[in-house]
Amino acid sequence: MSATVESVIVAIDGPAGTGKSSTSKAVAAALGLSYLDTGAQYRAITWWMITNGVDVADPSAIATAADKPAIVSGTDPADPTITVDGVDASGPIRTPEVSAKVSAVSAVPEVRTAITDLQRTIAASAVMGIVVEGRDIGTTVLPDADLKIFLTASPEARAARRSGELKGADLAATKEALIKRDAADSSRKTSPLAKADDAIEVDTTELTLQQVIDRVIALVETKRAAR
Ligand code: C5P
Repeated sequence: MSATVESVIVAIDGPAGTGKSSTSKAVAAALGLSYLDTGAQYRAITWWMITNGVDVADPSAIATAADKPAIVSGTDPADPTITVDGVDASGPIRTPEVSAKVSAVSAVPEVRTAITDLQRTIAASAVMGIVVEGRDIGTTVLPDADLKIFLTASPEARAARRSGELKGADLAATKEALIKRDAADSSRKTSPLAKADDAIEVDTTELTLQQVIDRVIALVETKRAAR
């Protein structure tokens, strides 16, 4: 996908708890870009599978149902929304049950095809450009993105951030769940979590959120200036 002269497409990938969502939303808001949380889409399809009685341990059942839910993502970084079949899914997609099951659902190729098509359509319609966050955006979904960032952080830092977000959830259990999810996401056959060869890696372990945001904004501005 190629961006027009004015627009810019930014791909931000990395494992859970690296600050992808907070960074992506803030960068998009500061630069007047749209924002897409692709993890929310995989969570939404997982929630649909659970509520519709699809066995998430059965890849063929998931594959058969993959194109049934209608997932709609709102791309305003100040108010990102997600609905499934017209129902607001923003709360239910954040439950521990969905977090525990999403990697099994997102590993199914038919799910990835359906969601990737949706992501490309959304990115293509973002007139001023878009910040898209996920796991395979720079490698698979938008390989021609103008800027690719890969965020990392130590497992301890990631677990501490995530348990803070989950209002004091047990740190050891959060770390274990994150490591398990990253291992599943990194080892799946179809478009695993991976850094694109041309992505810029930013280790956020020792950085504040504002420092990460400032660094990404500076990288976008450098890219724009180089055009
Ligand atoms: O970003 P978040 O942690 O909400 O993502 C939830 C899950 O969605 C990930 O653990 C992964 O299984 C899946 N995902 C993916 N590809 C993406 C974004 C998320 O497989 N581009």
